[in-house]
Amino acid sequence: MIFDIVKNLYASVTVIDNTNGNIIYSHNKHPFTDMQIQTKEQLEAFLKKYYNATSIPIFDKIIIDGSSYWIYRKYQNNHIYYLIQECRYWDVMLEKAESQSIIDGLTGCYTKTETETLINNLLFTFLRYQTNPFSIIMFDIDFFKKVNDTYGHLAGDYILKQLSALVKTHLRESDLFGRFGGEEFIIVLPQTKVNGAMRLANRLKESCQSHNFTFGGSKIETTISLGVTSVSITDSLLSLIDRCDNALYDAKKNGRNKVEYR
Ligand code: GH3
Ligand code: MG
Ligand code: MG
Repeated sequence: MIFDIVKNLYASVTVIDNTNGNIIYSHNKHPFTDMQIQTKEQLEAFLKKYYNATSIPIFDKIIIDGSSYWIYRKYQNNHIYYLIQECRYWDVMLEKAESQSIIDGLTGCYTKTETETLINNLLFTFLRYQTNPFSIIMFDIDFFKKVNDTYGHLAGDYILKQLSALVKTHLRESDLFGRFGGEEFIIVLPQTKVNGAMRLANRLKESCQSHNFTFGGSKIETTISLGVTSVSITDSLLSLIDRCDNALYDAKKNGRNKVEYR
C-alpha cells in the first residue's frame, strides 16, 4: 500500500492511501503534541502506525525544539536532520540531502552552504549566551593542481575522497566536517578551545603526510596546510571564516604542510 502525505506547514498532516485516495489519518494540529512523543520508541511507534511501515528510518536521536521534532541520522559520518513530517521514505531523504545541497556527493561532507548555516547556529548561541565556545580548522591540499595535471582528474577525485575519509576517522561525533571549496575543507569543533583544535590540526597534518595514497599503481604524496582559529565575542560568520582563512594562508606562506593559528 502506498501512502501519500500531504503537509500544510507543520500544523497539519494528512496521510492518503494512494491506491484508493482514502484519507487514513488527518490531523489539523501538530500531530505530535497530542501524542506526547518524548522518546525514540514512541516516535518509532508513531511512524510505524501512520507512515509506510516498511521504510521506517533508523535514527540516532530526536531533537525536540519548541513545537518541532527533528530526527538525526548518521550519513557518511555526518548527521543530517529532518523535520519529522518529512520523514517518510528514508532513502528518498538521503537523495534529497544531496540534491538539496546538504551533503557533498563526492566526499560525504556538508556543503559550503550547509556548513555556514551550522556555524551560524553555533555562533548565535555563543554570542547570545556566551557559552559553548568553538574552534574551526580550515585546510587545503598542497599543490593539488599538480596532482590533477600529473595523474589526471580521477586521481584528484580519489585523493579528495580518501582524504576526507581519513580526516573523519580523527573526528568526534559532534564535530562538523564541510567541503568549503574544491580542495578546501572546514572542520567545526564545538566545545573546543585553541589547544584542542591545534592538537587535532597537527594530528591531521601528520596523518595526511604519512598516509599512503595510491592510485593506478602510483603513490601520490599528499600534504595539507591548516589554519586554526577560535570564536571570539566580536565575531561574525565572515570575520571568523576570514581569520581562519588568513591562518591557512600563513601556513601556505610558511612553506605548506604546516599548521598556523590566528
Ligand atoms: P596550493 O598549495 O597553493 O593550495 O596549490 P594548489 O595547486 O592546491 O591550488 P590551486 O588553487 O592552484 O589549485 C587547486 C586545484 O584543485 C585546481 C582544481 O583543478 C583542483 N580541484 C578543485 N576541485 C576539484 C575536484 O572536485 N576534483 C579534482 N580532481 N580536482 C579539483
Ligand atoms: Mg590547494
Ligand atoms: Mg585551494
